[in-house]
Amino acid sequence: MIEIHDLTKTYGRGADAVTVLDRVDFTVSAGEIFAVVGPSGAGKSTLAQCINLLERPTSGEVVVNGERLTDLDAKSLRVARRRIGTVFQSANLLSRRTAAQNVALPLEYLGVTTAQTKARVAELLDRVGLSPHADKYPHQLSGGQRQRVGIARALALRPSVLLSDEATSGLDPAATESFLDLLREVRDDLDLAVVFITHEMDTIVKIADRVGRLDHGRIAEQGAVVDLLLDPESVLGEALRPQSA
Ligand code: ATP
Ligand code: MG
Repeated sequence: MIEIHDLTKTYGRGADAVTVLDRVDFTVSAGEIFAVVGPSGAGKSTLAQCINLLERPTSGEVVVNGERLTDLDAKSLRVARRRIGTVFQSANLLSRRTAAQNVALPLEYLGVTTAQTKARVAELLDRVGLSPHADKYPHQLSGGQRQRVGIARALALRPSVLLSDEATSGLDPAATESFLDLLREVRDDLDLAVVFITHEMDTIVKIADRVGRLDHGRIAEQGAVVDLLLDPESVLGEALRPQSA
């Protein structure tokens, strides 16, 4: 499980200081998908970067399975960060590496033996249904396939949290469906806590158990998707209801 407590991120100092995240608070249990939605500039990607500690939060805590990552020194953090796998928009694959070599990357960094890496990569590519495409380069894969490679790479170090930032943006409806199916499947199989960042309301209704609305760096509203859909007072509920209804 992952707990975000009072997470604040301020860029710049003094008169130039801009607070991009303001005391963000939420918890995602193992096996649960929590969506974060908000308009462009709301702070979603900054939140993703602070959750996996690529950016240091200005204050607040990121706690994974009871361990406070925000307290750790650089060396311990490198180890602890393995518990969070991240899938980015457009997958962020290295263009000069094949699908298999991209998935192998986190294992190589850890110094896992070549034989072990090979076996694990084969298992991961099989899980995401890409075994036949192992030796293709990113430009030879479809957008949906690239995102599946991104998931395989994010799972390489057996994380307990999966963080996804706009991973379905730019995918067509069929590729989005198949990405969401895979996400559900790995969530169930690996009992992952999933933080799913998106601006697509229909995707949230399909995939998320709970959702938080980020507005100017604050979680303005959060709750179970089913409850929000039924709440006539809820801004999120209104946005989540199909427009035709
Ligand atoms: P989008 O939907 O367009 O991806 P977002 O919700 O992901 O938007 P962020 O990328 O988190 O938004 O940006 C939130 C705000 O933080 C923006 O106003 C942006 O200019 C600012 N910001 C992001 N990174 C930095 C930085 N390194 N220094 C200063 N300001 C930053
Ligand atoms: Mg963003």
